[in-house]
Amino acid sequence: METPVLYWFRLDLRLTDNEALHVAAQDDAPIVPFYLVPPSEPSPPQPGAASRWWLHHSIERLASSLDDFGSPLVLRSGPTLATLEDLLKRTGARRLVASTRYEPSLQADDQRIAAELGAAGIDVQFVRTGLLHDPSQLRTQTGKPYRVFTPFWRRLQADLSEEQLYGVRPAVELPPHGFSPEDLGHEPLAAHRLLPTIPWDSEFGSVWTPGEQGAAARLDRFVTTTLGGYDQSRNTPAIEGTSSLSPHLHWGEISPRQVAAAVRERLRDDPDLDEGASSFLSEIGWREFAYHVLANFPQSVREPLNTKFARFPYRTDESELHAWQRGQTGYPLVDAGMRQLWRIGWMHNRVRMIVGSLLTKHLLQPWQAGADWFWDTLVDADLASNTMGWQWIGGTGADAAPYFRVFNPITQSEKFDPRGDYIRRWVPELAELPSDAIHAPWAAPESVLAKAGVVLGETYPRPIIDHPVGRKRALDALATLKS
Ligand code: FAD
Repeated sequence: METPVLYWFRLDLRLTDNEALHVAAQDDAPIVPFYLVPPSEPSPPQPGAASRWWLHHSIERLASSLDDFGSPLVLRSGPTLATLEDLLKRTGARRLVASTRYEPSLQADDQRIAAELGAAGIDVQFVRTGLLHDPSQLRTQTGKPYRVFTPFWRRLQADLSEEQLYGVRPAVELPPHGFSPEDLGHEPLAAHRLLPTIPWDSEFGSVWTPGEQGAAARLDRFVTTTLGGYDQSRNTPAIEGTSSLSPHLHWGEISPRQVAAAVRERLRDDPDLDEGASSFLSEIGWREFAYHVLANFPQSVREPLNTKFARFPYRTDESELHAWQRGQTGYPLVDAGMRQLWRIGWMHNRVRMIVGSLLTKHLLQPWQAGADWFWDTLVDADLASNTMGWQWIGGTGADAAPYFRVFNPITQSEKFDPRGDYIRRWVPELAELPSDAIHAPWAAPESVLAKAGVVLGETYPRPIIDHPVGRKRALDALATLKS
């Protein structure tokens, strides 16, 4: 049998436009595809509970596509280096190809793996698959990493070639590798227990279709129906006004290049969609920026990028944090967002900002507490984007909203969910309230509450803190940094 190449699937759970898989297929040798199921990778961070749900189903779909080629996916667990060595031994492979990961702890691991296996004569290649650019490379004119999005994105767009932006590579068809998975130590998917034991995930399956095919269908639906009006619809959480591609992009079921190419094709048919398209592509740019910041400021995963916030007088209050997590803050839009997150593992971007502002400002909790909860509950939990999102809303990060911008959860609700449809969907105990009362039920006349069956403090909580009080306390805390 010809000497095979080992292909390590990571955050690139797809066959189309997978640069690393193309590199593995270059010399036409058989490819043995495998996945190391967490906690194999000695992160932190390990995937949270919602991510594990996604991973289970995404692996299932990938394995089924690979089975169609007669090239079964091998699942293994255990310490990374030892498992790789074992697979190399069992297959006789002398080459290992994988996609690059940018999480700081994994970067360090990968360097060690490349050094140790390289010393044993193995050719190890890590190839970028999930980003448009190498996030450690771009520099400002003064030679520093970018900390502001707009010049970063302008520069990146100018630097990217047509091929880099739109040159989607066809799917790799893996030739049968001829090994029986059992001979390679394969452990069946169910044995990894990625799915929850209590059924809090019951709604996930009706909303999401993990896997490459699901990602392609989602992209197709988005560019056909929503792209044109995206610049308007993206801020309305009650409608399907965004792409919901984030988990597919995170898990690498689709590449940003496939997304850019699909947008361009749609624009060719209908140039009038230009505004929606450029607004949408700039969000893909934010994703690149998040990785640029992660690669250049790895400490930002836990530490504020703006170092003066290391002395910020945060409070820690478990009962308030718990109320926020469970969607029981008494602010309807915030509670709707937190319950959407719990029920479907995803939350609308506008609402992510509003819930984040309430936690880090009104409640003065550290942004890391919010990031940890999102990490466990989001199906798109992504170290780069989650860190950037939390540092942004917490006022501590790159190009962040200044800390003194405390979102008003009532006016935000009136502006972005004017009829209260989003609130009614996720906070059913308020569903009978009229639109002018639903954003601040505590201010509604008793008769209106009674008619809607709302008893404050019983069927729905009073606000966890009054907005003006929370705002003032946040600004007072900020003032301590100046003194
Ligand atoms: P669209 O509006 O359709 O955007 C298209 C794609 O662009 C998204 O799928 C995503 O990949 C990317 N994108 C959009 N907005 C951003 C952004 N602000 N930063 C980085 N990439 C962006 N996104 C994650 O993918 N994972 C996270 O863990 C994550 N945590 C966040 C935490 C906070 C506190 C905040 C404020 C934002 C966070 N985001 C995160 C960014 C953003 O909320 C989501 O990417 C977006 O809501 C996903 O929905 P969509 O796919 O419909 O986005």
